[in-house]
Amino acid sequence: MSGISKILIANRGEIALRVLRACKELGIATVAVHSTADADAMHVRLADESVCIGPPPSRESYLNIHQIVAACEITGADAVHPGYGFLSENAKFADILDAHGITFIGPTAEHIRLMGDKITAKLTAMDLGIPVVPGSDGEVTEDNLMATAHRIGFPVLIKATAGGGGRGMKVAKTEEDLEEAFNTARTEAAAAFGNPAVYMEKYLGKPRHIEIQVLGDGEGNAIHLGERDCSLQRRHQKVWEEANSPALNVEQRMKIGQICADAMMKMKYRGAGTIEFLYENGEFYFIEMNTRLQVEHPITEAITGIDLVHEQIRIASGAGLSVTQDEVTFSGHAIECRINAEDPRTFVPSPGTITHFHAPGGLGVRVDSGAYQGYKIPPYYDSLIGKLIVHGRTRVECMMRLRRVLDEFVIDGIKTTLPLFQDLIANQDIANGDYDIHWLEDYLARTSA
Ligand code: ADP
Repeated sequence: MSGISKILIANRGEIALRVLRACKELGIATVAVHSTADADAMHVRLADESVCIGPPPSRESYLNIHQIVAACEITGADAVHPGYGFLSENAKFADILDAHGITFIGPTAEHIRLMGDKITAKLTAMDLGIPVVPGSDGEVTEDNLMATAHRIGFPVLIKATAGGGGRGMKVAKTEEDLEEAFNTARTEAAAAFGNPAVYMEKYLGKPRHIEIQVLGDGEGNAIHLGERDCSLQRRHQKVWEEANSPALNVEQRMKIGQICADAMMKMKYRGAGTIEFLYENGEFYFIEMNTRLQVEHPITEAITGIDLVHEQIRIASGAGLSVTQDEVTFSGHAIECRINAEDPRTFVPSPGTITHFHAPGGLGVRVDSGAYQGYKIPPYYDSLIGKLIVHGRTRVECMMRLRRVLDEFVIDGIKTTLPLFQDLIANQDIANGDYDIHWLEDYLARTSA
């Protein structure tokens, strides 16, 4: 593709492999970077070139901007794909690459900053016509705390403006809880993010988490690729995602999708992004925007047939979007199961050597994983070792296929979350698509011995 001839993939694991596959298809050369713990990883083996960027701890390797820029210069990479996590939403990284004349495959540093601060993100969303959760106008302080809570109405949620991963978030059910929730949220936010600032939102009781995938060319063209329902979460970590959402009809999908696409046109957003909402009683409430590719992007690819990483690379090289909104069609239903190297009941990480690995196959089945027989999962990183994505013409067909595929999947030598999905697939609420963001934790509490 014009403008980009060699991409350095600043990530590891399944997502590094995912990006590498797209580069190969586009005829673009690849550079893998890795820590000493990942020398044997699949993304390193398959890349055209690889550079060791440091010892196992992420801050000394995958988060080490200096080493990554040096690796670009040594190999002559002209672009960097950051994957998700690590440096993918680091505006300083985008600025530094820019200063070195290296293309960052993602949005502008300015847009990363705008969406990285949650108060600013929410105000921006409101300005762009996106519906938001009723809440404070900005930061809440000791002085306006009680008045703001009364205006919004209890229960309220205190959230860290620098938040992420569900940290620095506290519910106040009544006036009596408010002071303590405020103080605890501030203390947690200061400890986790070095910034104690908090804001307030109406606490929604039984929402679903529904997010919209968007793509923009940075020149004012933007489209949406429908939604993903990621309500099945544990400790704010997504476990099972589906597209489309069992809760939305076509009109609702196209309406919220268009609101998001219009907003991206207005801000001249560049690249792939996800606008996250809570959804309750037919209403959408913006919570945040992720300015990167997401873990669960393959379910959108399954129902649209559009390769999101191809699109990201096209956009970064200045070639624009490959489709118009009218050309986007939604076909069938897809579900993704996140396979973690964890105990399926306690969720305690289970690193170690995979003694036997057999991935399922057949129509409508995709496995994105860097794992293989004999692979030793290092203990230093996220426990996601693979994603199972199943597509069917209908949700029922998709679920039938998923049941078959889960029986076929073998990963021995370590514990994985595969058995959890076998339980979920047999559950009536899941079969009915009848769940909200609390369902999985309630289920786990109910069924634990
Ligand atoms: P983070 O960036 O820390 O992940 P988010 O704003 O994305 O924070 O929220 C994380 C999760 O917290 C949501 O998916 C939802 O489960 C819950 N949450 C956030 N805001 C609200 C709210 N106003 N009411 C109820 N739950 C909420």
